[in-house]
Amino acid sequence: MDDFVFDADIAAKAVSRDLCDHCLGRLFGKSGKGMTNDERGRIIRDRLGIDAPEGCALCDGLFDLTDRFAENVAESVNSVESDNFLVGCKVDPATVEAEKALWKELGIEGESIKTELNREIGKTALPMINRPVEFKNPQVVACIDTRFADVELDLSPLFIYGRYNKLSREIPQTIWPCRVCKGKGCPRCGNTGKMYQTSVQEIIGDIALEMAEGNEHFFHGMGREDIDALMLGEGRPFVLEISQPKKRDIDLDELELRANDSDLAHYRGLAFTDREAVKKTKLATPTKTYKARVRPNGKVNKEQVIGVALSFRDVCIDQRTPRRVEHRRADLIRKRNILWVEAEMADDGTFDLTLETESGTYVKEFVSGDEGRSIPSFSEALGVECTVETLDVIAINDQEELK
Ligand SMILES: [Zn+2]
Ligand SMILES: [Zn+2]
Repeated sequence: MDDFVFDADIAAKAVSRDLCDHCLGRLFGKSGKGMTNDERGRIIRDRLGIDAPEGCALCDGLFDLTDRFAENVAESVNSVESDNFLVGCKVDPATVEAEKALWKELGIEGESIKTELNREIGKTALPMINRPVEFKNPQVVACIDTRFADVELDLSPLFIYGRYNKLSREIPQTIWPCRVCKGKGCPRCGNTGKMYQTSVQEIIGDIALEMAEGNEHFFHGMGREDIDALMLGEGRPFVLEISQPKKRDIDLDELELRANDSDLAHYRGLAFTDREAVKKTKLATPTKTYKARVRPNGKVNKEQVIGVALSFRDVCIDQRTPRRVEHRRADLIRKRNILWVEAEMADDGTFDLTLETESGTYVKEFVSGDEGRSIPSFSEALGVECTVETLDVIAINDQEELK
């Protein structure tokens, strides 16, 4: 402890301020390694031969409460599941200001009272919690308000990756707030606050929320399909986010089983993941494979249709923002690639197109031409106006994307 050197003039001034050993030592917290602030304070006092005051003019005896703070922190942290934790604290702003003013007066910058409290409370709480402290990405931050000894927990979200099939043309991918009341509840939505009774998000999200005892769920899909489109095949990747989960180690097999009770959507391949996966999922631009049931507005024969289908191989098309989404998207012309198209005739005069397209292609408009806004289009090439009756996504080709 011989390496603890401090400015005697500053120390003399500091000692005259009626500070407890913690607050005195903390002023010199950046010198003298391997000792606590109250040890530093005692050394200073010993060398100057001045006794400790009754109370502390700065912290008002806050450090005497460390045990109580630690017990409250431990109790709170132990009420939730986590692999690690971190302690934070709120200190009376007047105390924080007074400390800064003292530094200025003495011409010194010590360690802050918050830093010392966090460390001391954490040290005392650690044996009661039995989980390691994590500074970078803690799953739980227990923030204690030192005025009231109240603890507030901030739990990092739970992220669950999976793939979904949408088996209904009547539900959207995510919660869709009522257009009239914006979610508050009104006669238009039967007081549900929603345009649709349920969604791919809610079917799994509500169950996961209950299992994790969380606050809210958020759904991050790798793109989305129209409400009236099915999502078939291997499904579309998504990440489900549960905020403030009290339980983290939930049984994903049970979640999958319970969610798959629904006839509207199915889920598979659930696995825990992290926030990074949300970004990857949202930024991915995989090609998609669709199946479209197409009705021509006139007579066509098989050879014509198949010929036109085969002509679209790696063809770049110009797509102006479709009329149907014009009101919510900027009017732009996008270049999109049609990788391939296959056709199969049905008995009722319609035909099915299976096609793979670049991410962001408006498939209905590629088929119809959208009154000349999509060029070239299937209708234009066929010479007969065609409309898409049903459109399903049969594959999200993301295998390259996630590498
Ligand atoms: Zn003090
Ligand atoms: Zn409403």
